[in-house]
Amino acid sequence: MSRHEARLDQFRHTLRQEGLDAYLVADSGNVTYLCGFSGDSSYLLVSPERAWLITDGRYTEQAAAEAPHCEVVRHKVSLAKTTAELAASSGAKSVGFAPAELSVAAHGDLTEGLGSVEAVPRKGLVEKLREVKDDEEIERIRRAAELALTAFRNIRSQIIPGRTEAAVATDLDYEMRKLGARKPSFDTIVAARQRSSLPHAQATQAVIAPGDAVLVDWGAERDLYCSDCTRVLFLTAPNARWREIHGLVRRAQEAAIAAARPGVPFRDVDDAARRTIADGGYGDNFAHGVGHGVGLRVHEGPALNARAEGKLAEGMVVTIEPGIYLPGWGGVRIEDLIVVRGDGAEVLAPLPKDLEAAIL
Ligand code: ZN
Ligand code: ZN
Repeated sequence: MSRHEARLDQFRHTLRQEGLDAYLVADSGNVTYLCGFSGDSSYLLVSPERAWLITDGRYTEQAAAEAPHCEVVRHKVSLAKTTAELAASSGAKSVGFAPAELSVAAHGDLTEGLGSVEAVPRKGLVEKLREVKDDEEIERIRRAAELALTAFRNIRSQIIPGRTEAAVATDLDYEMRKLGARKPSFDTIVAARQRSSLPHAQATQAVIAPGDAVLVDWGAERDLYCSDCTRVLFLTAPNARWREIHGLVRRAQEAAIAAARPGVPFRDVDDAARRTIADGGYGDNFAHGVGHGVGLRVHEGPALNARAEGKLAEGMVVTIEPGIYLPGWGGVRIEDLIVVRGDGAEVLAPLPKDLEAAIL
Protein backbone atom coordinates (compact mmCIF):
# COMPACT_ATOMS: atom_id res chain seq x y z
CA MET A 1 0.00 0.00 0.00
CA SER A 2 1.39 3.42 -0.94
CA ARG A 3 1.81 6.27 1.56
CA HIS A 4 -1.19 8.09 0.15
CA GLU A 5 -3.44 5.02 0.14
CA ALA A 6 -2.49 4.50 3.79
CA ARG A 7 -3.26 8.14 4.62
CA LEU A 8 -6.64 7.97 2.87
CA ASP A 9 -7.41 4.83 4.88
CA GLN A 10 -6.40 6.55 8.10
CA PHE A 11 -8.59 9.54 7.19
CA ARG A 12 -11.56 7.26 6.46
CA HIS A 13 -11.10 5.84 9.95
CA THR A 14 -11.33 9.42 11.29
CA LEU A 15 -14.52 9.99 9.28
CA ARG A 16 -16.13 6.87 10.77
CA GLN A 17 -15.25 8.09 14.26
CA GLU A 18 -16.77 11.48 13.44
CA GLY A 19 -19.93 9.88 12.04
CA LEU A 20 -19.45 11.44 8.59
CA ASP A 21 -20.28 9.69 5.28
CA ALA A 22 -17.88 11.82 3.23
CA TYR A 23 -15.57 14.80 3.54
CA LEU A 24 -14.65 17.70 1.28
CA VAL A 25 -10.95 18.69 1.57
CA ALA A 26 -10.37 22.15 0.08
CA ASP A 27 -7.02 23.29 1.54
CA SER A 28 -4.23 22.55 -0.95
CA GLY A 29 -1.81 21.36 1.74
CA ASN A 30 -4.40 18.92 3.05
CA VAL A 31 -5.15 17.72 -0.49
CA THR A 32 -1.42 17.12 -1.12
CA TYR A 33 -1.04 15.28 2.17
CA LEU A 34 -3.92 12.87 1.54
CA CYS A 35 -3.53 12.10 -2.16
CA GLY A 36 -0.19 13.43 -3.43
CA PHE A 37 -1.53 16.02 -5.87
CA SER A 38 0.71 19.08 -5.53
CA GLY A 39 -1.23 21.66 -7.55
CA ASP A 40 -3.82 24.08 -6.17
CA SER A 41 -7.40 25.16 -6.98
CA SER A 42 -8.63 21.58 -6.52
CA TYR A 43 -10.86 19.75 -4.05
CA LEU A 44 -10.62 16.21 -2.75
CA LEU A 45 -13.84 14.38 -1.86
CA VAL A 46 -13.34 11.27 0.27
CA SER A 47 -16.04 8.63 0.82
CA PRO A 48 -15.67 5.23 2.51
CA GLU A 49 -15.00 3.53 -0.85
CA ARG A 50 -13.83 6.20 -3.25
CA ALA A 51 -11.80 9.40 -3.59
CA TRP A 52 -12.43 12.07 -6.24
CA LEU A 53 -9.99 14.82 -7.13
CA ILE A 54 -11.99 17.69 -8.61
CA THR A 55 -9.86 20.09 -10.64
CA ASP A 56 -9.79 22.14 -13.86
CA GLY A 57 -8.27 21.72 -17.31
CA ARG A 58 -4.83 23.04 -16.26
CA TYR A 59 -4.35 20.21 -13.82
CA THR A 60 -6.06 17.06 -15.13
CA GLU A 61 -2.86 15.49 -16.51
CA GLN A 62 -0.82 16.29 -13.38
CA ALA A 63 -3.66 15.08 -11.14
CA ALA A 64 -3.86 11.69 -12.87
CA ALA A 65 -0.08 11.24 -12.57
CA GLU A 66 0.32 12.38 -8.96
CA ALA A 67 -2.88 10.96 -7.49
CA PRO A 68 -3.40 7.53 -9.10
CA HIS A 69 -5.75 6.45 -6.29
CA CYS A 70 -8.23 9.20 -7.08
CA GLU A 71 -10.83 9.54 -9.81
CA VAL A 72 -9.95 12.82 -11.49
CA VAL A 73 -13.01 14.93 -12.32
CA ARG A 74 -12.92 18.17 -14.31
CA HIS A 75 -15.37 20.68 -12.87
CA LYS A 76 -17.72 22.65 -15.06
CA VAL A 77 -19.29 25.56 -13.19
CA SER A 78 -17.54 25.59 -9.83
CA LEU A 79 -15.45 23.23 -7.73
CA ALA A 80 -17.99 23.25 -4.92
CA LYS A 81 -20.96 22.59 -7.18
CA THR A 82 -19.34 19.60 -8.91
CA THR A 83 -18.17 18.25 -5.56
CA ALA A 84 -21.68 18.58 -4.14
CA GLU A 85 -23.17 16.71 -7.11
CA LEU A 86 -20.65 13.87 -6.71
CA ALA A 87 -21.35 13.64 -2.97
CA ALA A 88 -25.11 13.62 -3.48
CA SER A 89 -24.94 10.95 -6.19
CA SER A 90 -22.68 8.76 -4.00
CA GLY A 91 -25.55 8.28 -1.57
CA ALA A 92 -23.86 10.11 1.34
CA LYS A 93 -26.23 11.55 3.95
CA SER A 94 -23.63 13.91 5.43
CA VAL A 95 -20.54 15.65 4.06
CA GLY A 96 -17.99 17.24 6.37
CA PHE A 97 -15.96 20.31 5.51
CA ALA A 98 -13.63 22.78 7.28
CA PRO A 99 -15.27 26.24 7.45
CA ALA A 100 -11.96 28.11 7.15
CA GLU A 101 -11.17 26.32 3.88
CA LEU A 102 -14.30 27.52 2.04
CA SER A 103 -15.25 31.01 0.92
CA VAL A 104 -18.82 32.14 1.53
CA ALA A 105 -19.46 31.71 -2.22
CA ALA A 106 -18.08 28.15 -2.27
CA HIS A 107 -20.12 27.25 0.81
CA GLY A 108 -23.23 28.57 -0.93
CA ASP A 109 -22.52 26.42 -4.01
CA LEU A 110 -21.88 23.40 -1.81
CA THR A 111 -25.06 23.56 0.23
CA GLU A 112 -27.16 24.38 -2.84
CA GLY A 113 -25.71 21.42 -4.77
CA LEU A 114 -26.05 19.04 -1.80
CA GLY A 115 -29.80 19.54 -1.55
CA SER A 116 -31.06 17.32 1.26
CA VAL A 117 -27.55 16.01 2.10
CA GLU A 118 -26.29 17.61 5.28
CA ALA A 119 -23.11 19.78 5.17
CA VAL A 120 -21.35 19.38 8.54
CA PRO A 121 -18.67 21.87 9.64
CA ARG A 122 -15.77 19.92 11.21
CA LYS A 123 -12.34 21.53 11.35
CA GLY A 124 -8.82 20.27 11.88
CA LEU A 125 -9.32 16.59 10.94
CA VAL A 126 -6.54 16.44 8.33
CA GLU A 127 -4.31 18.88 10.23
CA LYS A 128 -4.36 16.51 13.20
CA LEU A 129 -2.97 13.68 11.04
CA ARG A 130 -0.35 16.01 9.55
CA GLU A 131 1.08 16.88 12.96
CA VAL A 132 2.92 13.55 13.24
CA LYS A 133 5.41 12.96 10.43
CA ASP A 134 6.50 9.63 8.98
CA ASP A 135 10.17 8.84 8.29
CA GLU A 136 9.97 9.96 4.67
CA GLU A 137 8.54 13.35 5.68
CA ILE A 138 11.19 13.82 8.37
CA GLU A 139 13.96 13.13 5.85
CA ARG A 140 12.44 15.57 3.36
CA ILE A 141 12.32 18.29 6.03
CA ARG A 142 15.90 17.47 7.03
CA ARG A 143 17.07 17.78 3.41
CA ALA A 144 15.25 21.10 3.02
CA ALA A 145 16.91 22.34 6.23
CA GLU A 146 20.35 21.17 5.11
CA LEU A 147 19.93 22.92 1.77
CA ALA A 148 18.91 26.14 3.53
CA LEU A 149 21.96 25.92 5.82
CA THR A 150 24.34 25.40 2.91
CA ALA A 151 22.86 28.43 1.16
CA PHE A 152 23.28 30.49 4.34
CA ARG A 153 26.93 29.46 4.71
CA ASN A 154 27.56 30.32 1.07
CA ILE A 155 26.23 33.88 1.36
CA ARG A 156 27.33 34.73 4.92
CA SER A 157 30.43 36.57 3.73
CA GLN A 158 28.20 38.86 1.66
CA ILE A 159 26.60 40.38 4.76
CA ILE A 160 28.77 43.50 4.77
CA PRO A 161 28.35 47.24 5.35
CA GLY A 162 26.87 49.10 2.40
CA ARG A 163 24.60 46.31 1.21
CA THR A 164 20.85 46.43 1.74
CA GLU A 165 18.72 43.94 3.64
CA ALA A 166 16.90 43.20 0.37
CA ALA A 167 20.16 42.45 -1.46
CA VAL A 168 21.19 39.92 1.20
CA ALA A 169 17.73 38.31 1.15
CA THR A 170 17.90 38.06 -2.65
CA ASP A 171 21.34 36.40 -2.45
CA LEU A 172 19.97 33.84 -0.03
CA ASP A 173 16.87 33.14 -2.13
CA TYR A 174 18.95 32.77 -5.29
CA GLU A 175 21.41 30.45 -3.56
CA MET A 176 18.61 28.24 -2.23
CA ARG A 177 17.10 27.92 -5.71
CA LYS A 178 20.49 27.13 -7.24
CA LEU A 179 20.92 24.35 -4.69
CA GLY A 180 17.58 22.78 -5.64
CA ALA A 181 14.89 24.52 -3.61
CA ARG A 182 11.61 25.05 -5.42
CA LYS A 183 11.40 28.39 -3.61
CA PRO A 184 12.03 29.96 -0.20
CA SER A 185 9.47 28.49 2.21
CA PHE A 186 8.41 32.06 3.17
CA ASP A 187 9.56 35.64 2.48
CA THR A 188 13.15 35.72 3.75
CA ILE A 189 13.61 38.09 6.69
CA VAL A 190 16.81 40.14 6.87
CA ALA A 191 16.54 42.82 9.56
CA ALA A 192 19.46 45.05 10.52
CA ARG A 193 20.00 46.92 13.79
CA GLN A 194 16.83 48.16 15.50
CA ARG A 195 14.64 46.57 12.81
CA SER A 196 15.58 43.20 14.35
CA SER A 197 13.11 44.02 17.15
CA LEU A 198 10.24 43.41 14.70
CA PRO A 199 9.60 39.66 14.88
CA HIS A 200 8.23 39.56 11.32
CA ALA A 201 10.23 42.30 9.62
CA GLN A 202 10.42 42.19 5.83
CA ALA A 203 13.77 42.77 4.11
CA THR A 204 13.83 46.45 3.07
CA GLN A 205 16.17 48.86 1.29
CA ALA A 206 17.77 49.69 4.68
CA VAL A 207 21.56 49.69 4.34
CA ILE A 208 23.66 47.51 6.63
CA ALA A 209 26.19 49.62 8.59
CA PRO A 210 29.46 48.75 10.36
CA GLY A 211 28.80 47.27 13.80
CA ASP A 212 25.23 46.19 13.00
CA ALA A 213 23.48 43.11 14.28
CA VAL A 214 21.55 41.42 11.45
CA LEU A 215 18.71 38.97 12.05
CA VAL A 216 18.14 36.43 9.27
CA ASP A 217 15.08 34.13 9.28
CA TRP A 218 14.89 31.88 6.24
CA GLY A 219 13.87 28.48 4.93
CA ALA A 220 13.74 26.36 1.81
CA GLU A 221 10.95 24.37 0.22
CA ARG A 222 12.24 21.18 -1.39
CA ASP A 223 10.30 18.08 -2.45
CA LEU A 224 7.15 19.84 -1.13
CA TYR A 225 8.51 20.13 2.44
CA CYS A 226 9.66 23.27 4.24
CA SER A 227 12.39 24.36 6.63
CA ASP A 228 12.64 27.33 9.01
CA CYS A 229 15.71 28.73 10.84
CA THR A 230 16.79 32.02 12.46
CA ARG A 231 20.19 33.38 13.44
CA VAL A 232 21.47 36.82 14.43
CA LEU A 233 24.89 37.79 13.07
CA PHE A 234 27.17 40.56 14.35
CA LEU A 235 29.37 42.56 12.00
CA THR A 236 31.77 43.33 14.89
CA ALA A 237 32.14 41.96 18.41
CA PRO A 238 28.83 42.78 20.14
CA ASN A 239 28.57 45.00 23.20
CA ALA A 240 27.60 43.79 26.70
CA ARG A 241 23.86 44.13 26.19
CA TRP A 242 23.81 42.21 22.93
CA ARG A 243 25.93 39.51 24.61
CA GLU A 244 23.54 39.33 27.54
CA ILE A 245 20.46 39.03 25.32
CA HIS A 246 22.04 36.59 22.90
CA GLY A 247 23.19 34.37 25.77
CA LEU A 248 19.77 34.45 27.41
CA VAL A 249 17.91 33.55 24.22
CA ARG A 250 20.35 30.73 23.57
CA ARG A 251 19.86 29.33 27.10
CA ALA A 252 16.08 29.66 26.72
CA GLN A 253 16.18 27.78 23.42
CA GLU A 254 18.35 25.02 24.91
CA ALA A 255 15.96 24.72 27.88
CA ALA A 256 12.97 24.29 25.56
CA ILE A 257 14.78 21.71 23.42
CA ALA A 258 15.78 19.81 26.57
CA ALA A 259 12.13 19.83 27.73
CA ALA A 260 10.81 18.38 24.46
CA ARG A 261 9.94 14.69 24.53
CA PRO A 262 6.83 12.58 23.89
CA GLY A 263 3.99 13.25 26.34
CA VAL A 264 5.15 16.73 27.40
CA PRO A 265 2.38 19.36 27.13
CA PHE A 266 3.01 21.98 24.41
CA ARG A 267 2.71 24.73 26.99
CA ASP A 268 5.47 23.21 29.14
CA VAL A 269 7.93 23.49 26.24
CA ASP A 270 6.91 27.13 25.85
CA ASP A 271 7.23 27.65 29.58
CA ALA A 272 10.78 26.24 29.71
CA ALA A 273 11.95 29.03 27.40
CA ARG A 274 9.68 31.69 28.91
CA ARG A 275 10.88 31.07 32.47
CA THR A 276 14.54 31.34 31.44
CA ILE A 277 13.88 34.68 29.74
CA ALA A 278 11.75 35.97 32.63
CA ASP A 279 14.42 34.98 35.17
CA GLY A 280 16.89 37.00 33.11
CA GLY A 281 14.66 40.07 33.42
CA TYR A 282 13.19 40.19 29.92
CA GLY A 283 9.86 38.45 30.46
CA ASP A 284 7.90 41.27 28.81
CA ASN A 285 10.04 41.14 25.68
CA PHE A 286 9.15 37.66 24.42
CA ALA A 287 5.69 38.13 22.95
CA HIS A 288 5.13 35.09 20.74
CA GLY A 289 4.85 31.33 21.19
CA VAL A 290 8.06 29.29 21.37
CA GLY A 291 7.39 27.29 18.19
CA HIS A 292 5.14 25.79 15.54
CA GLY A 293 4.88 22.67 13.43
CA VAL A 294 6.62 22.56 10.04
CA GLY A 295 5.88 20.23 7.12
CA LEU A 296 4.12 20.79 3.80
CA ARG A 297 3.62 24.33 5.10
CA VAL A 298 6.13 26.37 7.05
CA HIS A 299 3.48 27.15 9.67
CA GLU A 300 1.24 24.24 10.63
CA GLY A 301 0.15 22.45 13.78
CA PRO A 302 0.93 22.09 16.55
CA ALA A 303 1.33 25.61 17.97
CA LEU A 304 3.61 25.69 20.99
CA ASN A 305 2.48 28.55 23.21
CA ALA A 306 1.21 29.29 26.71
CA ARG A 307 -2.45 28.61 25.78
CA ALA A 308 -1.90 25.48 23.68
CA GLU A 309 -3.78 22.29 24.53
CA GLY A 310 -2.19 18.96 23.73
CA LYS A 311 1.10 17.16 24.09
CA LEU A 312 4.15 16.39 22.02
CA ALA A 313 4.19 13.01 20.27
CA GLU A 314 6.98 11.04 18.65
CA GLY A 315 7.43 12.15 15.02
CA MET A 316 6.28 15.74 15.45
CA VAL A 317 8.55 18.28 13.75
CA VAL A 318 8.44 21.73 15.35
CA THR A 319 10.52 24.88 15.58
CA ILE A 320 11.98 26.10 18.86
CA GLU A 321 12.40 29.85 18.48
CA PRO A 322 12.40 32.04 21.59
CA GLY A 323 13.33 35.69 21.17
CA ILE A 324 13.88 38.93 23.08
CA TYR A 325 12.76 42.12 21.34
CA LEU A 326 13.55 45.61 22.62
CA PRO A 327 11.50 48.11 20.57
CA GLY A 328 13.64 50.75 18.89
CA TRP A 329 16.84 48.99 19.94
CA GLY A 330 16.93 45.52 18.44
CA GLY A 331 16.17 41.88 19.02
CA VAL A 332 17.56 38.36 19.04
CA ARG A 333 15.76 35.18 18.00
CA ILE A 334 17.37 31.76 17.67
CA GLU A 335 15.34 29.17 15.79
CA ASP A 336 15.99 25.52 15.00
CA LEU A 337 13.88 22.60 13.81
CA ILE A 338 13.55 19.56 16.04
CA VAL A 339 11.96 16.16 15.57
CA VAL A 340 10.48 14.56 18.69
CA ARG A 341 12.04 11.12 19.20
CA GLY A 342 11.26 8.47 21.80
CA ASP A 343 13.98 9.69 24.14
CA GLY A 344 13.92 13.46 23.47
CA ALA A 345 14.49 15.99 20.72
CA GLU A 346 16.80 15.65 17.74
CA VAL A 347 17.85 18.90 16.07
CA LEU A 348 17.46 18.60 12.30
CA ALA A 349 20.43 20.04 10.40
CA PRO A 350 22.28 21.58 13.37
CA LEU A 351 23.96 24.97 12.89
CA PRO A 352 26.25 26.54 15.55
CA LYS A 353 24.43 29.06 17.74
CA ASP A 354 27.11 30.27 20.13
CA LEU A 355 28.15 33.93 20.14
CA GLU A 356 31.54 33.29 18.52
CA ALA A 357 29.84 31.64 15.53
CA ALA A 358 27.55 34.68 15.24
CA ILE A 359 30.40 37.19 14.72
CA LEU A 360 31.16 37.74 11.03
ZN1 ZN B 1 11.50 31.38 11.09
ZN1 ZN C 1 9.31 29.74 12.67
